[in-house]
Amino acid sequence: MSQYWSQLVHSLTPYVPGEQPKVDNLIKLNTNENPYPPSPKVLEAISEQNNEKLRLYPDPNSDILKQSIADYHNLNPNQIFVGNGSDEVLAHAFQGLLKQDAPLLFPDITYSFYPVYCGLYGIEYNNVPLNNDFEIDITEYEQKCGGIIFPNPNAPTGRLLALDKVKALLEMHPNRVVLVDEAYIDFGGQSAISLVNDYPNLLVTQTLSKSRSLAGIRVGFAVGQAHLIEALERVKNSFNSYPIDRLALFGATASFADEDYFQACCQKIINTREALTSAMTEMDFKVIPSAANFIFAKHPEQDAEKIALALRERKIIVRYFNKPRIDQYLRITIGTDAENDALIAALQEITQ
Ligand code: PMP
Repeated sequence: MSQYWSQLVHSLTPYVPGEQPKVDNLIKLNTNENPYPPSPKVLEAISEQNNEKLRLYPDPNSDILKQSIADYHNLNPNQIFVGNGSDEVLAHAFQGLLKQDAPLLFPDITYSFYPVYCGLYGIEYNNVPLNNDFEIDITEYEQKCGGIIFPNPNAPTGRLLALDKVKALLEMHPNRVVLVDEAYIDFGGQSAISLVNDYPNLLVTQTLSKSRSLAGIRVGFAVGQAHLIEALERVKNSFNSYPIDRLALFGATASFADEDYFQACCQKIINTREALTSAMTEMDFKVIPSAANFIFAKHPEQDAEKIALALRERKIIVRYFNKPRIDQYLRITIGTDAENDALIAALQEITQ
């Protein structure tokens, strides 16, 4: 490859997703998937899409899904945008709403896709440091900016920002978009969706990949006032008219029709998270309080990367980030109770 082509390719810095192993004999606690299957109603709805229907394009507006999300949150369908995973929804928001004449702000420790989108779309940004307990300090956001984005709960820390502090950020920058990425909100947080009718600058994104066990069909959505949703629709229609395929459209819609299943599943994960937190605290780990389906923890003496490797030898995979401030931490997804027992036994062996 000539230097010209090499420079061109290497000027693009991609996001590197967590490992998706090609073998299935591992306890997979590395990419925050749900350990339980989706509601049986999802598979029923997908199965109804027969061969005759697959011949046809899906509805480009995904109306049935928007309607069910709007009903679920007591909003109007024109306040809902849907996309091919929340990563795609975020991409459109970065491109259409977050490129302004001042830097975008997000925490120094956060979802590592954000700087990648900034690079791709030429958006300037400032990393705002989390405090020593990995909390967002909202006073640090009192600076000129082109918008704010952060996950709530944050990833990979799991820490939740209280809704009154989200409101304070919205009021601090009334003419900038504040995007709250709620990929993990259903595991114990209070959603900012309740605020959208009061704040024209608020955009909330959620995903069906985590709490609804649907990472495999790739559906995410944004909620906001109609003008912000209209902006996202314009970007989407200049990019891909049919982001939600037919199977995903009907499967995702069905998942909103089984509230009991959804609530029970989230509660099980919360209970397992609390059990894991206690067990690891007893082993002397420092566990950051989590409102997500994962925990972020470090051992006072043992090296995080070595623990991750020792777990892997025992066929358990977790996430290790070789990054400043967090290179002694492990992010561990909450699994089933049986997976959790195996993890605890392995950690006891490794750290004793
Ligand atoms: N936001 C955060 C904070 C995440 O951790 C993830 C998952 N990697 C996403 C968004 C994207 O999830 P998806 O594209 O599966 O909806």
